[in-house]
Amino acid sequence: MTEKSTGKSEHQRVYWLRDAEQQFPELDRNLTCDVIIIGGGITGTAAAYWMRQAGARVVLLEEELVASGASGRNGGFLLTGTVEHYARAVALIGGEKTRRLFDFTVENIRLMKDFIREHEIGCDLDESGSLHAAISTEENVELRESATLMQTDGFQVEYRDEADIAALTQSDLYKGGLFTPEDAGVHPARMVSGIAKEAVAAGAQIFENTPVTQIIHDDYDSVTVETPKGRVSGYLVLLGTNAYSQLMDDFFQDKILPVRGHAMVTSPITQKLWNPVIYANFGYEYFRQLPDGRVLMGGMRESVPGGDAQHFNELPDERVTTQLIAYLKDNFTALKTFTVDYEWAGIMGFSRDGIPMLGSLPGKSNVFAAGGYTGHGMGFGFSMGRLAAQVMLDGENIGMDLFSLRRLVK
Ligand SMILES: Cc1cc2nc3c(=O)[nH]c(=O)nc-3n(C[C@H](O)[C@H](O)[C@H](O)COP(=O)(O)OP(=O)(O)OC[C@H]3O[C@@H](n4cnc5c(N)ncnc54)[C@H](O)[C@@H]3O)c2cc1C
Repeated sequence: MTEKSTGKSEHQRVYWLRDAEQQFPELDRNLTCDVIIIGGGITGTAAAYWMRQAGARVVLLEEELVASGASGRNGGFLLTGTVEHYARAVALIGGEKTRRLFDFTVENIRLMKDFIREHEIGCDLDESGSLHAAISTEENVELRESATLMQTDGFQVEYRDEADIAALTQSDLYKGGLFTPEDAGVHPARMVSGIAKEAVAAGAQIFENTPVTQIIHDDYDSVTVETPKGRVSGYLVLLGTNAYSQLMDDFFQDKILPVRGHAMVTSPITQKLWNPVIYANFGYEYFRQLPDGRVLMGGMRESVPGGDAQHFNELPDERVTTQLIAYLKDNFTALKTFTVDYEWAGIMGFSRDGIPMLGSLPGKSNVFAAGGYTGHGMGFGFSMGRLAAQVMLDGENIGMDLFSLRRLVK
């Protein structure tokens, strides 16, 4: 296994992780279980929760703290859909696949909202919807077409024209947009931490500060993973390591690519700016106002050469932060003066076709992986954890025509 060559960004620089503390012990003994989950992000914690509901004995190993990867460093947007607008996705992969992928995310958001309510997870659930804002005439055409196609396919969306979008965004930058009322915003680290706590309450064992250093395939029916102070043996392994999966197994070298994403949070702004979370320019820029008035702005990784460099360095590139600041100052009159109180980066896992993946590794039938969300893991991850439980524990193959990672062995 390759060493993770990260430049570690301090948690205090990440708005969502500023108060993060260790909640679960470090592994210091040998254990046996049914399923070993590696990685404590949305994927790993959700899988642990759902696998416990199904009755499996689960051990989750996280090398830092739960949610310290991309799951605690994102925008907290719960969006319907994939990285592509609906109309473009239909053109690329066909109508039926697109509808089912988008349906999966609608179900994921409903499931998350139900979970948050049922378990009273204090993660600032904001149910004001999302707005996809078009930066160009071309994107506006795509969004208008997407609205029509989505309405025909039964999705609840509304197209907004240039005047509407100017009122909603308080900016004249955008040409039109797509409003999705059921989308939401959350405090992502508290959401993931809440899932982890419920998984433990249901009987899962979670260990933090416990890096997996080696996966040993004993035979077809058992696997052992090594950590510095203990080993865990089980029947099945799930890699919930997303962008880091290529460090776990070479198979992922050209299948889940690490891409660095940036975000920052301003000082509190007294004026109320926007209700929905806003995703603009095909998702390259996104922003929202948080409950304490601060503005979170993320994206713009393509605005400077090497900004989205494919490596594991979580330290933000100052040039990208400068672009994020300029975007707010240039486009919103209420945002001429603010300070940047938090700035950070996180590593996303991009798949080659923008579609997430789930399945066992060729030649290692008891080692599974789920990831490759291409910047949309909060929109997929909770349901993906449930699907992983169904696929791994019940041998079901639902959704595998959408997500099978074997499609990438070509
Ligand atoms: C700046 C930014 C903004 C984003 N905004 C959004 C958004 O608004 N909405 C959205 O849907 N998505 C967003 N994303 C993407 C989203 O964060 C990810 O898709 C999602 O968090 C992936 O979750 P995961 O659990 O699969 O991976 P991660 O959260 O990255 O978790 C993987 C975990 O594996 C652990 N790990 C790695 N190696 C080992 C090892 N050897 N042993 C033990 N543990 C290990 C890591 O420490 C990490 O905690 C954004 C991402 C970034 C970086």
